[in-house]
Amino acid sequence: MKKTLTDIQVKGKRVLMRADFNVPLDGKGKITDDSRIVAALPSIKYILENGGKLILMSHLGRPKGEYNPELSLTPVADRLSVLLKKNVKKMDDCIGEDVEDAVNNMSEGDVILLENLRFHKEEKKNDPEFAKQLASLGEIFVEDAFGTCHRAHASTVGVTEYLPSVAGFLVQKEIEYFEKVTRDPDKPFCLMLGGAKVADKIPVIENMLDKIDFLLIGGAMAYTFLKTRLKGVGDSRVEDDMEDTVNKIFELASANNVSIFLPKDHVVAKEIKANAKRKIVKEHIPDGWIGLDIGPETVKSYEAILKESKTIVWNGPMGLFEMKPFSVGTRELAKFISKLDATTVIGGGDTAAAVNQLKLGNKMSHMSTGGGASLEYLEGKVLPGIAALNDK
Ligand code: AMP
Repeated sequence: MKKTLTDIQVKGKRVLMRADFNVPLDGKGKITDDSRIVAALPSIKYILENGGKLILMSHLGRPKGEYNPELSLTPVADRLSVLLKKNVKKMDDCIGEDVEDAVNNMSEGDVILLENLRFHKEEKKNDPEFAKQLASLGEIFVEDAFGTCHRAHASTVGVTEYLPSVAGFLVQKEIEYFEKVTRDPDKPFCLMLGGAKVADKIPVIENMLDKIDFLLIGGAMAYTFLKTRLKGVGDSRVEDDMEDTVNKIFELASANNVSIFLPKDHVVAKEIKANAKRKIVKEHIPDGWIGLDIGPETVKSYEAILKESKTIVWNGPMGLFEMKPFSVGTRELAKFISKLDATTVIGGGDTAAAVNQLKLGNKMSHMSTGGGASLEYLEGKVLPGIAALNDK
């Protein structure tokens, strides 16, 4: 068990917290979705209400180690000031004399936001000197950015060499849910995978096969699986050279008594356009047609499996959900899962985006805030940013 915010005293202490403020911007400096800032509020408020001096740090976008005014965290500081109803002082850099002066003049309950960490190439390289400079700003380190816990960067792993390090509330919840589903899941356990990149999901399947009972597959990855079962996939997106891997998965599944379910009908279109000619086909997709969503019969049969399950982990949309005509399968299953009395864990990235579009996030047991990090957890990997935190 990792130490968390409630295991330490923050009163009067400089608390250096890694948050995930990597928010979408409209290109003119306006935040289009502040949910990542809102998600960090419980830890932020706890620290402030308990008399900590809070120094926040984050990355934003991919500035490639150079200053880029378009990726400044100023809009985040402004939004945070509104949400907290107090001034959040935004620094022009994340290290250096100005930052040190500001930090030394803080009072209890003050908040400072450092500038984008990735304006320094040393951040992603986990440069020890850079990490030491960051760490010197605080007396305690709080990790609350699950989305970067799978990366050993200066602000996630480097600083833990120098400071007592604990999980913030967001990371604590992520650990609790992912530990539960990977170590002690309530059964039956259904893993639902979709999305496009099969190679990304294979290590997840391999690691989870001895824990799950059902594996539901949708999205473009289903066509790679269906092709090895000699089903017609038409012009759908398939990954080549996966036959041996997929066959191995089927063998492992039967050895572990896991039932794998593949779509039995499909929404197909002539081209990848929202207004393209489309129809529903059963079993085989004819040449000249592209599979872009699971069909209604598949939705019904997947619902029957989900209903039996006590644990559901879902990663990857069931179709090309960004285009409305191909979003029905993803939407229907999201709605169905949200009503079930089961432990429901939604992977970050596209899956969380699809669920959020439907405003169903608060109906799930856990919405992960990390796409890559949640996949790595399910792969059974140790996330360096979590491993580096102090044990209880
Ligand atoms: P991934 O990053 O592998 O989870 O893939 C997510 C992406 O897969 C989303 O952008 C979906 O639109 C896309 N996707 C899902 N189903 C299909 C499909 N049948 N054909 C093409 N793209 C798809």
